[in-house]
Amino acid sequence: MEQDTITNNTIEVMRAEEEWQRAGAYSVRIEGMNRQHHISLRDEFDELDGPDTKYIVLLDDGYPVATCRFFDAGGGMVNIGRMVVLPEYRGRGLGAKAILEAEKWIRELGFERIGVDSRVVAVGFYEKLGFRVVDPEVYISGPFECKRMEKEVGMLKILVSECLYGGRVVRYDGGEVPETHPTFLKWKEEGRLIPICPEVFGGLPTPRPDSQRVGDKVMASTGPDVTEEYTKGALEAVRLAKENDVAFCIMKQDSPSCGSKFIYDGTFTDTKIPGQGLAVEMLRDAGFKVFAEEDIDEAAEYLKKLL
Ligand code: SF4
Repeated sequence: MEQDTITNNTIEVMRAEEEWQRAGAYSVRIEGMNRQHHISLRDEFDELDGPDTKYIVLLDDGYPVATCRFFDAGGGMVNIGRMVVLPEYRGRGLGAKAILEAEKWIRELGFERIGVDSRVVAVGFYEKLGFRVVDPEVYISGPFECKRMEKEVGMLKILVSECLYGGRVVRYDGGEVPETHPTFLKWKEEGRLIPICPEVFGGLPTPRPDSQRVGDKVMASTGPDVTEEYTKGALEAVRLAKENDVAFCIMKQDSPSCGSKFIYDGTFTDTKIPGQGLAVEMLRDAGFKVFAEEDIDEAAEYLKKLL
């Protein structure tokens, strides 16, 4: 049994090797896809559903609530697909649990790469699990618009601030600061980077008021205490770092969440002091090494020693 860190519900993650477990995986697909998206049973269950295909199923108190499948696609690659979480269980990290358990199994089976035909709306979800888009072309699969994504199995991952990763605008001021260091871009291209924004994970909007650490709290320049939101986002960053077993983190300097050497002093007078953001503090407390974006060369040396 595994404890779900977001909801505290007890969720069981299973490799569906027996018939009753497969029945659970199928039932989630019937409820979550056939009924919800009006996909016929014939279209949902294709020629790839058979004895050679592997299934993951997640149970909540004995009832199936999420699933995915994977199969040998040839050339050392497997394809993951049919990832379904029942509507009332979405937003609780169960999809990631299913994919990560599949990935463990895939590694044990000796495959080198995983491919997924991701719905366009799910590209960000798979990026957080280390997949990268390998063909920008959008194609139609059933009722969905999809992009092809892949990842290498067993590649050491790096957690990074999402504003450095680029793509989605997440900064408090609505601005963008994508990192252009060639090594960082190479890592991004390889699918090595896991982008996370603790403040967005904490439920805060973009743009949002400037905030600073003030003692044990985080305060917005407009007055409200936002410690709860920052703490929630920091815990999610730690959860993702653990879930992806990252080698280390590269976080945006000076932020009240991501700063690793300096932060603003809490007076909103543009004064920096030595310190760290809340997410970085929790990542370090959990044992993760954190670099600032100005130390990418040092991070590259560190990675070289781990490879
Ligand atoms: S919380 Fe971190 S990742 Fe998000 S915008 Fe601020 S510095 Fe970037």
